Amino acid sequence: MKAVYLVVLLLTTVGATMADEVAPDAPSWRAGAATVKITPERPLHMAGYASRKKPAEGTEQDLFGKALAIQDSAGNSVVIVTLDLIGVIAPLRKAVETQVAEKYGVPPRSLLMNASHTHCGPAYARDDAKDYFDSLTTKLVKLVGEAIGKLKPASLAYGSARCSVAMNRRTPTETGFRNHPNPNGLVDHTVPVLSIRNEVGELQSVLFGYACHNTTMGFRYWLGDYAGFAQQYFEADNSGVTALFMMGCGADQNPYPRSELKYAKMHGRSLATSVEAALEFNQSKPLHQRHISGHIRSALGTVDLEFEPDDRPDFRYPVQVIRLGDDLMLVALGNEVVVDYSLRLKEELFRSDGPAVWVAGYSNVYDGYIPSRRVLLEGGYEAKSRPWKPELEARIIGKVHELVAETAID
Ligand SMILES: [Zn+2]
Repeated sequence: MKAVYLVVLLLTTVGATMADEVAPDAPSWRAGAATVKITPERPLHMAGYASRKKPAEGTEQDLFGKALAIQDSAGNSVVIVTLDLIGVIAPLRKAVETQVAEKYGVPPRSLLMNASHTHCGPAYARDDAKDYFDSLTTKLVKLVGEAIGKLKPASLAYGSARCSVAMNRRTPTETGFRNHPNPNGLVDHTVPVLSIRNEVGELQSVLFGYACHNTTMGFRYWLGDYAGFAQQYFEADNSGVTALFMMGCGADQNPYPRSELKYAKMHGRSLATSVEAALEFNQSKPLHQRHISGHIRSALGTVDLEFEPDDRPDFRYPVQVIRLGDDLMLVALGNEVVVDYSLRLKEELFRSDGPAVWVAGYSNVYDGYIPSRRVLLEGGYEAKSRPWKPELEARIIGKVHELVAETAID
């Protein structure tokens, strides 16, 4: 049975008159960032590995939720919420989305929620974590309000670097594919960085991404893992700056070596250093910072993904596109997305005179792996989590292109 095809698509339109009124050198953006601690205050079960049957024993590193609010000169805004959690489960997205729309007028299309996929966070979908879920929702809604309340004139820039922590984890064997480091497999080592500076050019916040499972550790302590350390180190080295991590299409990527805390710290240090490289620290004249100007356009849609056999309702998969002027385009995909998607989309969406393209996974919903057609047909760990039909890749890519067209600058 095929479920009814539903599309939620809302668009921000910007009047030309408003745009024309902005002087070229006037600070055309406003931005604000806020942070809240979301470490559980009592023992809870941990998310990510079924083998850990007992609750967490303590805290190695606090977990955080962060929000970055950006507003253009016409009053259009976007809020990006990043979380040191396993994923953004649908009930959390729904609860936060509903309340921030009611309280602050942020439409769902302008709210991007991304999780770092740490496997040392709480299993907050469980019935015995209801109190945590409720307090998390309250905290995140308040957090979004704080970020909006801190909006100040700002300039935005995009840059990128590389970090080689991630390795493909699909090794071909005689019988299929084994979850094992594969130095010859596909990777996306790009570290995209959005930097926000105040009116006098001081760095205020950075949003950076990486495509790699956040799973150096699987012990029973709360930990943001390498992504947590990358944020912690960057903030420690750059006083007053809020660093937000956005997970990319890292479903078939792992950090190696693993299973020792020292490696989580080393990988975090490598990534934090790559963020500084992307920002061209200590260069007298930066050459690769792309100044961002223009207006925000955003669209949020869903595409129905079918199962085989077709014995259950289709999965309504969210796809989001956010444009910051004609300089940066964020594509946010739901669930655990393999690297094929970011590599393909960055190639297909590339225009020599077009925006930088940034593809995130683990956004707005968390409900199984999203293999590419290739990975699904090859088999292996990432192919087995759901019985998708191989058409899923074409449908998702098609929806991205549709939303990219819908949000195109006139
Ligand atoms: Zn995973």
